[in-house]
Amino acid sequence: MAKCAFCGSTIIAGGIKNGELTFCNQDCFDKGVLTQWADMIPAELVERQVRAIHQGICPKCQGKGPVDVHVSHQVCSFIFKTSWKSTPGICCRSCGIKGRIGDIVYCALLGWWGIPWGLILTLVQIIRNLLGIIFTPNPAIPSEALYHYVRIDMASREVQKRQRLI
Ligand SMILES: [Zn+2]
Ligand SMILES: [Zn+2]
Repeated sequence: MAKCAFCGSTIIAGGIKNGELTFCNQDCFDKGVLTQWADMIPAELVERQVRAIHQGICPKCQGKGPVDVHVSHQVCSFIFKTSWKSTPGICCRSCGIKGRIGDIVYCALLGWWGIPWGLILTLVQIIRNLLGIIFTPNPAIPSEALYHYVRIDMASREVQKRQRLI
C-alpha cells in the first residue's frame, strides 16, 4: 500500500496523485507543496525549534513534556458511507494515549455500521490506535515525525510571509 508523501500515513483507498507522489487527501496535497520549501530551512533552526517543543510543556494539558507527535485514528460510518482519518497531535505521552483511547471508543461506537468498509476499517483503526498506545515515541529523543512537523510548520510560516509581501 502507498504512503502519503506528506503525513506518512498508509493510504487504504483512494488518494491524490501528483507525479510520483501520492497524498491521502486534499489537505495533505496542499501541504505537500510546502515540503519543497521545508527542505530549504537551515537544519540548526529546525533543531532548535524541535528541542524547544520537545522539552516544553504540553499544549493540551499544560503538563510536563516530553512533547512529541501522537497520531490518533478515527473511522465513522453511516450505512453506505464510511470515512476515516488520522490526526497528528502535538502533545505529551499521556494526552496522546487519552486521545487514542477516546478514538477507540469513537470507532467502536460509530465506525462499524457501514457497508462494505465499516467493519474492516473499524478493526484497522482500532489496531492502529492500540499499536500507537503500545509503541509510543521514545521520550529521550524527538521523533522523526516531530522534525517533519516542525519543518512543515516553519515552511508554512515562510510561505504566508511571502504571500503577504506579494
Ligand atoms: Zn496525508
Ligand atoms: Zn498533555
